[in-house]
Amino acid sequence: MPVQYLTIEGETEARYLKDGGLHCPYCGTDEIEGYSIDIEGGEAWQEVSCLRCHASWKDVYTLTSLEPHNGPPIQEEAAPCSA
Ligand SMILES: [Zn+2]
Repeated sequence: MPVQYLTIEGETEARYLKDGGLHCPYCGTDEIEGYSIDIEGGEAWQEVSCLRCHASWKDVYTLTSLEPHNGPPIQEEAAPCSA
């Protein structure tokens, strides 16, 4: 499967963002799949590909807020992230 990073901007990008990233920005199908997420310095990236037209792109997230954690202490098996 070829990996493509085509330019998406303007109205197409705006429509994708308003939609919450639920449809392929290239062909419009909702048959898209997200892969692993990288987080660094208040930003996160997730690779997404379309199962129909096989386009690939990255969703970019930014840290917007925090919520207090009122439950029991979070048990992390993995070492804390250094970021
Ligand atoms: Zn597509």
